[in-house]
Amino acid sequence: MLKKTNHTLIILSLFFTTLTCSEKDRFNNNTGGGGEQSFANGCEGIEYPDWELSPHKLPYPVGKSYKIGLSNCSGAEHSEGEPDQYAIDFIMDIGTLVTASRKGIIVYVEESGLDFESRNNVVVLRDEDLYFLQYQHLTYNGALVEEGQIVDIGDPIGYSGASGNARYPHLHFVGTDWDYTKPYGSYEYTSFPMTFSNTTPNPNSLIQNKTYEALPIN
Ligand SMILES: [Zn+2]
Repeated sequence: MLKKTNHTLIILSLFFTTLTCSEKDRFNNNTGGGGEQSFANGCEGIEYPDWELSPHKLPYPVGKSYKIGLSNCSGAEHSEGEPDQYAIDFIMDIGTLVTASRKGIIVYVEESGLDFESRNNVVVLRDEDLYFLQYQHLTYNGALVEEGQIVDIGDPIGYSGASGNARYPHLHFVGTDWDYTKPYGSYEYTSFPMTFSNTTPNPNSLIQNKTYEALPIN
């Protein structure tokens, strides 16, 4: 019974993931310089944490730069009101190293899914303020951490990929709550707005189509 429910929810979440990617394809096709395309500039009416004081760093090594696909309130599963409304898609090739955005403990690891297939590989890092930082779509066997492991900021987490039916390789990164009474993936989490202190100004978090370099962590 419980298994069946989980399965339905997983199917549902895959459906939304696929929607995200379709949206992204459309978004790419429309960036031909027509001037009509407008990109979401964060979620409206939301007070974002001061980016300069943010304890969170970009989830990849210093010196690396990646472009943003969908971001906050920018369509599909990242739409306002969706569990992933504050998620950020970093466009990365399969096998790109992703790192700890903050010090914390690893509370969940799934790495058995294949790229472009349905099982979503995820690492969840619980940080010091009880944000659960989710690294989704990692590649097969792509986790470099184990459940219970303590990580410091900048430590390796794993390799990005395209598992979970991602139609293009990217890291889906989101800070959420966590329901310990239910297995991961069987409940709808709520996401939180997040900014990053080791890159260019991002008062409304990271913006679609922009590229952000990870600057040194002080
Ligand atoms: Zn996403």
